[in-house]
Amino acid sequence: MIPVTKPFLPVIQEFESYMSSIWERQWLTNNGPLVNELELKLKNYLNVKHLLFVSNGTMALQIAIKALGLKGEIITTPFSFVATSNSIVWEGCTPVFVDIDEETFNIDPAKIEQAITPRTSAILATHVYGNPCDIDAIQKIADLHSLKVIFDAAHCFGTKYKNKSVFEYGDISTTSFHATKLFHTIEGGAVFTQCPDLLKKMASMRNFGFNGPEEFSELGINGKNCEFHAAMGLCNLKHVDEILDKRRLLSFYYWRALSNLKAKYPKLNGDLDYNYAYFPVLFDSADLMLSCQKALENEKIYCRRYFYPSLSSLPFLAPAYMPVCESVASRILCLPLYHTLTSSDLDLITRIILRVQNYGQPAQAEKLNPAAPIEALHPALVIAQNGTAH
Ligand SMILES: *Cc1c(COP(=O)(O)O)cnc(C)c1O
Repeated sequence: MIPVTKPFLPVIQEFESYMSSIWERQWLTNNGPLVNELELKLKNYLNVKHLLFVSNGTMALQIAIKALGLKGEIITTPFSFVATSNSIVWEGCTPVFVDIDEETFNIDPAKIEQAITPRTSAILATHVYGNPCDIDAIQKIADLHSLKVIFDAAHCFGTKYKNKSVFEYGDISTTSFHATKLFHTIEGGAVFTQCPDLLKKMASMRNFGFNGPEEFSELGINGKNCEFHAAMGLCNLKHVDEILDKRRLLSFYYWRALSNLKAKYPKLNGDLDYNYAYFPVLFDSADLMLSCQKALENEKIYCRRYFYPSLSSLPFLAPAYMPVCESVASRILCLPLYHTLTSSDLDLITRIILRVQNYGQPAQAEKLNPAAPIEALHPALVIAQNGTAH
């Protein structure tokens, strides 16, 4: 079985040594030493000024909206995970969708201004698949109209924009460390800001609003994370460079193997160090995409339609017509991408897709070569793994 992604797991002894230290200290949660160590190491690794480790990426978005005191309408993208628009609604605001760019699949800045009303308080944009939005254009519009900017950077671990972590942009950036993301803490997320006051506010908010043992500074929630999740993050951080390298190799392998496919890939931002977080393929037609998805499923290869449906069609929101997003969402498929995939896995996946395109038929059962490791492309690359290799 080949799923769309597999979480990286360190060798179990690495994790166990952190577990022993937790048992010795008997400190399980509430800003413990491993949470502090993870925050410090992430700050150094990402080269960011401030960050706060929180319980998940959705909570990160909710805390960001609350900390900025947003009200009324928030301009956002219909092409994202459902948590992006849900967090807006959950915080009592109204999402106003603006269609996406045909090339990048990120929110189209040229369409933002016409959506601004006197009730607009912010722009919440997702850097889809780890590819940054047109950050400068969005910030310029926000400055002109006194709007706040939040970037949902859930896909962006390791992405740099103009030689700086993409987490350093906007009033607040948020990310997710969920098990399906390329760097994970099982469940987890983070908020990033350049502003010390906002940082202080969010630090208090994630911990019930405490400002000292018997004092509350504001409305808070339980948004903190624990020692066990921090331990997983500390283990995985040691391997994240290898994970990033491996995904880059796999992506190039896919692009080469699929060079005859009638499909498009998102246009990457020009000022980018990319993290190869996903491998999305935009097929020429929804029919071709669905036939490929079905042919792959016949071989127990499970892709995901990230992101379908368009968030503008959520049943609890007023419908909005987003033609570009609806067209992209109906034709896009993310192919499997994770650190233990081999070249023979990719050969199988790409052969099935090309056969459906060329002959219009689901492939018959393909004979797998004995698993040839993708490292054959790049002998210097060795990935630590716990026996889940094919
Ligand atoms: C994963 C994801 C989230 C939510 O993160 P969780 O940690 O699962 O709550 C939010 N936005 C986007 C774009 C995501 O992909």
